[in-house]
Amino acid sequence: MISEEDARRKILEKVSPLPERTVPLSGALGCFSAHDIVARLPLPAFDNSAMDGYAVIASSCKKGQRLRVTGEQPAGRDKQLRVSHGQAIRIFTGAPVPAGADAVVMQEDVTRESGAEIVINADVAPGDFIRRRGCDLTEGQRMLAKGERVRAATIALLASQGLVDMTVGGEVTAAIVSTGDELVKPGKKIEPGQIYESNSVLLNALLQRCGAIVKCVQNCRDERELLIQAIRPGIENHVLIISGGVSVGEHDLVKDALHSLGAKIDVWRVAIKPGKPFLFGKIGKCAVFGLPGNPVSAFVTFLQFVRPAILKMMGALNLNPPRVPAKLTVDLTNDSDRVHHLRGKLEDGGFTPVGRQESHALFGLSQSNALLRVAVGESLRAGEIVEVQTWE
Ligand code: AMP
Ligand code: MG
Repeated sequence: MISEEDARRKILEKVSPLPERTVPLSGALGCFSAHDIVARLPLPAFDNSAMDGYAVIASSCKKGQRLRVTGEQPAGRDKQLRVSHGQAIRIFTGAPVPAGADAVVMQEDVTRESGAEIVINADVAPGDFIRRRGCDLTEGQRMLAKGERVRAATIALLASQGLVDMTVGGEVTAAIVSTGDELVKPGKKIEPGQIYESNSVLLNALLQRCGAIVKCVQNCRDERELLIQAIRPGIENHVLIISGGVSVGEHDLVKDALHSLGAKIDVWRVAIKPGKPFLFGKIGKCAVFGLPGNPVSAFVTFLQFVRPAILKMMGALNLNPPRVPAKLTVDLTNDSDRVHHLRGKLEDGGFTPVGRQESHALFGLSQSNALLRVAVGESLRAGEIVEVQTWE
């Protein structure tokens, strides 16, 4: 049995970032930038009005002042207008500020007299309601770092620079094989002793959330030859996840099947609870993860070992799971010889373990939204601030 940290280190040593590619911005969500990206345009690109109103010279705008409206500048092409003392130009949100103007008075603070005159009803200070060129982002400023995840707002920011595509880390393809004689596909008739197969949909969802493309999903009985046949097409992908059959029983044939396909097994059995039978190896270029069949074990080992490996392949800089501080609501001690990832509910800043803390307890897992890692021999007291791992 090796430690969780050693297992993760070994896995990350064996996987590498995939070649970068250029994608349209609309397809970049969830990818990782392949380069630092700097602004080629300032934001805003020119001084413009933050309001519908009148562009004026602040020093000629005492309350009650009358001004002559000499032109109109809507958002769009700059009409190159100019404002002089005693004058105002009708202006709209986003429109370029006319030369000479140093403030905008919003239209709610103005009375429009008949004809082309307005009366100012508020005090006006220089800079009022003008969005200055470059106040949000300056030319040459870094917008996105290499390895940073592309989010919805990032895409909008890049589009605001006039970009249509970007270079991101490689696309990871994945296959899933779930094993077990007792498993029946949902929707089919079930016999006594059988259970519905749920890990392949769990893993499919987790893979998709990471940004991997799931290419094939298979179910396989506990037979060596059938397993070999199921694994063969799976290893055409960057990642193969096998669920079940990695423990030490006579029906746990995955390790044997992998060996006969020439796998090099780097990790088998990790001091982690749940998830002890976890296996990692490689067949050619394919990273093969053998996750225990118990659903909670599959979930926890996916987050601790599979996710960071996929993120590395995708070119991510930060491979750590999201972590947040929380106040523990109960006393806890880990008396076992493995680090324990407790499932719990993170709510109003507090963390409370939920459900049966057993590896088959899928309902408990479904009620949780965070994991607390308790080290071997560690005791934690209610009220302590701990860091919990989230995935949502
Ligand atoms: P195994 O790791 O194959 O020894 O399986 C451990 C436990 O997980 C057993 O109770 C299995 O019935 C259950 N199990 C294995 N695979 C799945 C699956 N794909 N969906 C739901 N439960 C499973
Ligand atoms: Mg099994």
